[in-house]
Amino acid sequence: MRSNFPRSLFARLVASPLLAASLIGAGPAAASTTVDPHADEVRLLWTNDTHGFFMPVFHAEPENVDQYAGLATTEGKLGGYAQIVTLVKRYKPQRANALFLDSGDTFDGSPVAQMTRGEAVIPIFNAMGYDAWVPGNRDFAFGKEDFLRVTDMITFPTVGTTLRDAETGELVFQPYKIMQLANKKVLLLGLVHPLVTEGFALGEQLAPSGSPDGFAVADEVSALVAQLRASENPDLVVAMSHFGKLQDLKFATEQAGIDVILGGHSHDVFTDPAILQGTDGRNVIVVQAGSHGAYLGMLDIKVEANGEITVAGYNVERIISKDVTPDPQVLALAEQAYAPFKDYLETRIGYTAKTIFRRGDTQSNMANFLCDTYAETFGADLCHFRGIRYGATIPPGPLTIGDVWNMVSPNWGDNKVFTGAVKGKVVYNIINNLLNQQFGTDPYRWPGGDVMRWNGNVTYKYVKNAADNEHLVSLKIGKDYLVKNGVIDAANMEKIYTYASTTPVPPVPESGTPVADTTAVDEIIHYIESRQTISPTLDGRTVEIKKGN
Ligand SMILES: [Zn+2]
Repeated sequence: MRSNFPRSLFARLVASPLLAASLIGAGPAAASTTVDPHADEVRLLWTNDTHGFFMPVFHAEPENVDQYAGLATTEGKLGGYAQIVTLVKRYKPQRANALFLDSGDTFDGSPVAQMTRGEAVIPIFNAMGYDAWVPGNRDFAFGKEDFLRVTDMITFPTVGTTLRDAETGELVFQPYKIMQLANKKVLLLGLVHPLVTEGFALGEQLAPSGSPDGFAVADEVSALVAQLRASENPDLVVAMSHFGKLQDLKFATEQAGIDVILGGHSHDVFTDPAILQGTDGRNVIVVQAGSHGAYLGMLDIKVEANGEITVAGYNVERIISKDVTPDPQVLALAEQAYAPFKDYLETRIGYTAKTIFRRGDTQSNMANFLCDTYAETFGADLCHFRGIRYGATIPPGPLTIGDVWNMVSPNWGDNKVFTGAVKGKVVYNIINNLLNQQFGTDPYRWPGGDVMRWNGNVTYKYVKNAADNEHLVSLKIGKDYLVKNGVIDAANMEKIYTYASTTPVPPVPESGTPVADTTAVDEIIHYIESRQTISPTLDGRTVEIKKGN
């Protein structure tokens, strides 16, 4: 759990390890001659942000990355779709009322997912036994046409409660799904992130990212739930959400009628469920189960005779792949999807002396390495890289071409390197705006991910807890101060700097030109081959200043 998570929001319902153990160890459903002690419960099993990592994957969390080299050796890889299914087949029959759901960011991320525009993931996804899912923002990565084509291949319900096509105004998917289980009826909703408006012409009602208006669907959702509670009388209302942790916690308090929010997008592991109150005073339980298929979430909800709901059990299981026998049918499909790419992706090209990791508020050693390499290779002043959170962790040891695909994530920018020139003030605006969104007080302004990364020639000091436009204490490009002691240098804001990046510097994409006869991936492969051993590090390019220092 992230340290900024408000502890006061947590129920201590599942503090007992005995309770967790009893959930894991429970036997098959009681025989028909005995009374099922869990008959009034609904078990929700779910994944979120698996990002197409259908094979087991190395995966550190920000909290354990410093110890990860050792952890990777002892526990090995995590997750795998076939391992997830084995656990689901174990836990789902333990309750008469049970669902297996996915909260999105499912078919974009892994190298094979990127190479096939999501398609290779779908046959495996279809075989996993999910009851329903909601798309995440990255599932829209390849544009509207591909999104609709690939989601059309999915053989179980896709739910998008407020997602409308901007061209027709029509809902793209069913807005809800009623699931009649053994003796409980569950109403399922699917909350799609407002980010999908960026270039996909979907979601007419949703505003662009970085705007609180994008989440202004609470009234629409509440009205739908009120109507369906009256007409369908569900025992439980469950929203699969790709809003993100802090957004879910805020949204829960602005809506009425939802009982459970199964979250995604921010890749957080909730070690306890958060319990908040909606505008109608009803409890809302919010949870999330990490990312990369490394975890399976399990939440048991007891539905009391008077309609009240309580948490009867909760666990987010970290899946140690070697300890779980993979489901043979799903494993066969995963291996079949991987086979055409295996030789290429597993080609060894060098070594890393350090664990290479994606996450971090304002820098990561993975992006530091990429940005420094592109800037150096193309002799540019600047390189930026988006603060995406998906991408496997790479422990010390051999590096493969698959590791490069994982690091570069070439679905951003179509595997090109762009060169161009920008004014200093464009760089300032990007960093200033992202710090406002990331560390501001309104989580609805946060678009997702971490703050944009830069090469080591761009250095800044920042304060998290500050008013808008006051986060930056200093900002330099090379020796040029753009901000010094919080004061802007007007002359350097007008100075022109060159850049080389895997995407054009936003928000002026026309300023970038793709470099001919190379790819973003090949440049990194060549660099690693020429050095043989790399040792990516964090450094002083970004420094957080604690207030009062
Ligand atoms: Zn994600």
